[in-house]
Amino acid sequence: LISVRGVDKFFGDFQALKNIDLDIHRGEVVALIGASGSGKSTLCRCLNRLETITSGEITIDGERLPEEGKDLTRLRADVGMVFQSFNLFPHLKAVDNVTLGPRKVRGVSKAEADKQALELLERVGLADKANSLPTALSGGQQQRVAIARALAMKPKALLFDEPTSALDPEVINEVLDVMTELAEAGMTMLVVTHEMGFARHVCDRVVYMDRGEIVEQGDPEEFFTAPRSDRAKAFLSKIL
Ligand code: ATP
Ligand code: MG
Repeated sequence: LISVRGVDKFFGDFQALKNIDLDIHRGEVVALIGASGSGKSTLCRCLNRLETITSGEITIDGERLPEEGKDLTRLRADVGMVFQSFNLFPHLKAVDNVTLGPRKVRGVSKAEADKQALELLERVGLADKANSLPTALSGGQQQRVAIARALAMKPKALLFDEPTSALDPEVINEVLDVMTELAEAGMTMLVVTHEMGFARHVCDRVVYMDRGEIVEQGDPEEFFTAPRSDRAKAFLSKIL
């Protein structure tokens, strides 16, 4: 579904991504892990064109990433992104945060969008918070609204960039549980995470990056019990 071929990304002289090759198949759940500054966010941001790549090629469902305009809006609807910082619209109720995209981008009627948003809020366990403003919600609840908002676009794939890193420990699991349910329901997902339990037990594959390169990737159980590269061994010894 997502194909990355020979992608380089420079910020000025600094090379943040080095010859990245990556395929994510339909229904696959991939953990993207690595030290701070290794290029995980940059790779995610390139996938839905929040950053432009310097060279190489990215295709989504067989189509090259668009440069601008309507096609870019459609791409971002097809490849949703959930950020560490939720980024909800603060002046909009939960339900209206969820309906905005479908109404503006997908052209869905208000009645239909509202109905769908309430279903999605129920799916993430927030049926009773539909009319709350983000400021009245906990971090975990806000992040679940952000996930519902991404799902409302009926994306082909979802990118998560450290979705639980800004959360208090006691609400991390409510977000991971929603993500686990999505994974089990067959959503295609790329998840940048420090939650090694999630990477190991929920994801189909682990991709390990260091200094702009994919150093190693494979089955989570194998990666965590018997990493092949010295860099992955050193990384795991620091975090496990
Ligand atoms: P973290 O775990 O801290 O989120 P990361 O793996 O997501 O790290 P990136 O945010 O992708 O890392 O950054 C990779 C490198 O690219 C870093 O060295 C960072 O300083 C650099 N970088 C990222 N964005 C920019 C930018 N807009 N301009 C210049 N350099 C950047
Ligand atoms: Mg990052």
